Amino acid sequence: MSVQASFISLNNWPSGRHKPFVIAGPCSVESEEQIHETARQLSQTPVSVLRGGIWKPRTRPNTFNGLGKDALKWLAEAGRASGLPSAVEVATAAHVEQSLEAGIGLLWIGARSTVSPFVVQEIADALKGVDIPVMIKNPINPDLELWIGAIERISLAGIRQIAAIHRGFSSYEKNTYRNVPNWNIPLELKRHFPELPMICDPSHISGSIDLIPHLSQKAMDLNFDGLMIEAHHDPAHALSDKDQQLTPAAVGELIAQLVIRNLSTDDADFLDKLKNLRKDIDKIDYDILELLASRSRLVQEIGLYKKENNITIFQPERWAEIVQTRSRYGAEIHISEEMILDLVRIIHRESIAVQTRIMNDEK
Ligand code: PEP
Ligand code: MN
Repeated sequence: MSVQASFISLNNWPSGRHKPFVIAGPCSVESEEQIHETARQLSQTPVSVLRGGIWKPRTRPNTFNGLGKDALKWLAEAGRASGLPSAVEVATAAHVEQSLEAGIGLLWIGARSTVSPFVVQEIADALKGVDIPVMIKNPINPDLELWIGAIERISLAGIRQIAAIHRGFSSYEKNTYRNVPNWNIPLELKRHFPELPMICDPSHISGSIDLIPHLSQKAMDLNFDGLMIEAHHDPAHALSDKDQQLTPAAVGELIAQLVIRNLSTDDADFLDKLKNLRKDIDKIDYDILELLASRSRLVQEIGLYKKENNITIFQPERWAEIVQTRSRYGAEIHISEEMILDLVRIIHRESIAVQTRIMNDEK
């Protein structure tokens, strides 16, 4: 059963008044000078929070693991000196305790921790009775339930300043992205928790600086509340994630160039026109559903016919023909190949399920 979680809007977070709410700072705190200089430069931009990694969950051993407790002190001090609350990733109860002791303002749970209910529960237990904003990154695998579960665990610990961070999902195949965005997953999360603030981390989605502006704008267009961006005063010499860190000045330029859109408007003309266009869309959607029902009746008839003649459900040649002809036709009428493939796969999967039931006399 789902937990009744309640969330305090980002506008009421002590540090959340800017739209977009931008958290920026280095992947890792590498030295006292580095974090102070990066924080000083970021304080001249509309960034709201200074981030820094202290305990780094690195994929491989013998890489830079973060500097631990000393760096935590530098991060909190750099935040105070530049007037920015500081944020750090925590993965254990000890990290939570040390961060609270050092005066860190916000915590986040990393993607590699969200996958583990034990880790999230340990963090949740350490947060009982504490009032601090906690941001929860999606798990590395595209599993909405795990993300929801982590949010519920932190919520059950009594934390109400909670935000989700979308940082993309691991994929085995080589891809344009370091972590594929799968935007539908954070959008589904928002459907589940409409009040939950959503932050996008374009740095870890992209893996390089090139796609960060595009991804940031896309997040704004999808009504995300904020961004978490990796920034370093000297990215070329960063000890971790150097290809994806922007300079503080570049973060400032990026924020200045973002187009921030409204979720709604009072403009009567706009609302009227939108209503009419949506009526047309509604009609088309119902037509599509009627057509799918007619198609399904034919699928059932074919299923019975195959059964009577002892013919297999799956017909490789027919399936190959459907994919080829529908993709070709889709291209002619300007529907993307991706959409056609998704669509025919869903339809075909359902047809196979329907015919399997018929073949085996199941209800
Ligand atoms: C990070 O933000 O430094 C980090 C390790 O990210 P993620 O948990 O998204 O991999
Ligand atoms: Mn990083």
